[in-house]
Amino acid sequence: MQPEPFFSGPGIDRADQIRVDPTRLAEATANGASQLVWRDGLPAIGPDGRLEWEPATSPDLFLGLQDGEPRVSATVQPHTNARAAFDTMGALAPDEAPLFATALSLAWWHSRHRFCANWGASTDIERGGWSRACPKCCAQHFPRVDPVVIMLAEHDGRLLLGRQPQYPPNRYSALAGFLEPGESVEAAVARELHEEAGIRVADVTYVASQPWPFPSSLMVGCHARALDAALTIDTTELDDARWFTREEIAASLAGDEDAPFKAPPRFAIARTLLEHWLAA
Ligand SMILES: [Zn+2]
Repeated sequence: MQPEPFFSGPGIDRADQIRVDPTRLAEATANGASQLVWRDGLPAIGPDGRLEWEPATSPDLFLGLQDGEPRVSATVQPHTNARAAFDTMGALAPDEAPLFATALSLAWWHSRHRFCANWGASTDIERGGWSRACPKCCAQHFPRVDPVVIMLAEHDGRLLLGRQPQYPPNRYSALAGFLEPGESVEAAVARELHEEAGIRVADVTYVASQPWPFPSSLMVGCHARALDAALTIDTTELDDARWFTREEIAASLAGDEDAPFKAPPRFAIARTLLEHWLAA
């Protein structure tokens, strides 16, 4: 089974050939093009789960082509509370999710990177919003993507899941952490599992990835084999971490009332990783 995390997939035709062609870019981002509607700092989602559009009045960013038609967005200040976004995202159609993630992450970047990191000069939008240029030092700045490893460690048929303090009651999920400069995905998985749970692992394999637009993460989903089961939990990062059996995980994913934990929501790659593991 191929895992299909939420927010993944092709989404929109990014049409790089238009971004770099000033004439075509001007046509694509003219007033009247389909402009994304934002509501409460998030891309607006209609009752049918589709993104909402209106004739463009401030087409600052060229998102790409959808069914051959240009899609644009104003530069906006996104909502800073991810929890509010999670409530909204429950209604989002899966095939609209990649474009939701693209628009939200790009908007975050523009709202937080308006000045050159070299000299502090105000930068200008270029290439339809896919870079910014500094008029003083000529540096080009590109939208950032921050890789995060998220992983299931397995030992003797059981999986390690943990809970962070901000999770809803009884929610357990895959452990995760940011990659650091100079680190491979495999090394980051091993380091995070050792830091947070005190275990050593081997045989790290890649499973699937997912953009996570809060504000600009790429979740790299992995599996690792734990060399032993004794846990030393880092309580500054986690409230708890435990091993769960296949039956317990199946019951939680099924939403059983007596399941031992509350599974991650459908838009989290942790859930995809669990589903993938159960199906294997
Ligand atoms: Zn500069």
